[in-house]
Amino acid sequence: MTDIDRARRPGGPSSRKRALVIGGGFAGVAAAIDLQKQGRFDVTLVSDRDYLYLYPTSIWIPTRGLRFEQAQVPLESISRAHGFRLVVDRVEEIRSADGVVRCTQAEHAYDYLVLATGAAKMRHPGIENTLSICGVPETSLEIRDRLDALIVKGSGSIAVGFGGNPKDTSAVRGGPAFELLFNIDVLLRRKKIRDRFTLTFFAPMAEPGERMGRRALTMMDRMLAAARIAKRVGIPIAAFDPEGVQFADGGRLDADLVLFIPGAAGHPIMAASDLPLNEAGFVRIDDTGLVEGTSNVYAAGDVAALEGPRWRAKQGHTAEVMARNAAFNIAAAESGRPERKGYQQHLSIVCLMDTGNGAALIYRGRKNNLVIPLPVVGHWMKRAWGTYARQTTLGRIPRLPGL
Ligand SMILES: Cc1cc2nc3c(=O)[nH]c(=O)nc-3n(C[C@H](O)[C@H](O)[C@H](O)COP(=O)(O)OP(=O)(O)OC[C@H]3O[C@@H](n4cnc5c(N)ncnc54)[C@H](O)[C@@H]3O)c2cc1C
Repeated sequence: MTDIDRARRPGGPSSRKRALVIGGGFAGVAAAIDLQKQGRFDVTLVSDRDYLYLYPTSIWIPTRGLRFEQAQVPLESISRAHGFRLVVDRVEEIRSADGVVRCTQAEHAYDYLVLATGAAKMRHPGIENTLSICGVPETSLEIRDRLDALIVKGSGSIAVGFGGNPKDTSAVRGGPAFELLFNIDVLLRRKKIRDRFTLTFFAPMAEPGERMGRRALTMMDRMLAAARIAKRVGIPIAAFDPEGVQFADGGRLDADLVLFIPGAAGHPIMAASDLPLNEAGFVRIDDTGLVEGTSNVYAAGDVAALEGPRWRAKQGHTAEVMARNAAFNIAAAESGRPERKGYQQHLSIVCLMDTGNGAALIYRGRKNNLVIPLPVVGHWMKRAWGTYARQTTLGRIPRLPGL
């Protein structure tokens, strides 16, 4: 333990093992809560944000369906509810060989480390001309303001799309692009100005959303056509510019506002660490979440390299399963028990895709593929999930298994 770390520990040094979790998203919070529940570790969570951001609900911020603060749960309240220690600081370096994480303000030594810093994004040429709902949380406010300005102007063209990472098929996030697009469509219809706007969906792959399954793909096509949303897919993106999107075949898509979710890429802190990475920069783990070549470092959520079927996806529920597994497996290792939990048997896509006036429940597992349209009620189910996620994270209501 470093001097700084020891000095900051409430109650001074203790003989309990130190479990350090880095990242305060779904994975980090779930890992810290479950490690604390084990009752045998001094648990510290380090995050560079002081709140858990409920990404799935953030799709309503641009259309003013949700205030920014409503997508946040203060980490301080979560740490108080569950009893783990919170440090708001930025991780700069991980030295697993020395068992040390260096942050901007202090170094933290650990006996067990859980990596949960999420992922970074691919950098396409001219990406600064686009806005992503999956980037830093504050971008949702920029999207909202740009959308407001177009609504005041009374007409315009909006292009919404997503890309992938050719080095890792799990690093695509398309659902929020569809959700944002349909929510914007519904907003413009409610304002009775939809006919003065052009909405276009674009993606470089020939069948975007294909990993959700054939049925979902057919349904998305129908929904886009019904909402009169144009489609430009199957041509690689060359660059973005202030006027829109340039495609590799020389074509272009002009738009006043381009909302684009790039494919995910490895977190830069991991690239600068001594940990094993896959080609796309995600941390290599085994089924239990243990980082390859280590005995006390686990990775959970978007930061980790997922293995499994081609359609596997980096999702919130998978992040939480991995985090809980990490806590269980750390406790088992510490007490010398042989049992371990793995994430691969739980790999599935579960998506309640909101459309602003309803939703579609999409499930893809190893055996089944379901698509259930839920007009009206689906939208309120997703809203209810936001409340449920907040209340369970704050320990106010119990968590239902698998939800
Ligand atoms: C708009 C949107 C909608 C989504 N909808 C769904 C959905 O409906 N269903 C679903 O299952 N999944 C959904 N997802 C995916 C889901 O949100 C992610 O898979 C999940 O957030 C991953 O959790 P994580 O904890 O691994 O990473 P993150 O949520 O990205 O959290 C990473 C944490 O690490 C912190 N951090 C990063 N770098 C540092 C550093 N250097 N030092 C300290 N802390 C750091 C961050 O501040 C953050 O607290 C959605 C994602 C988005 C963006």
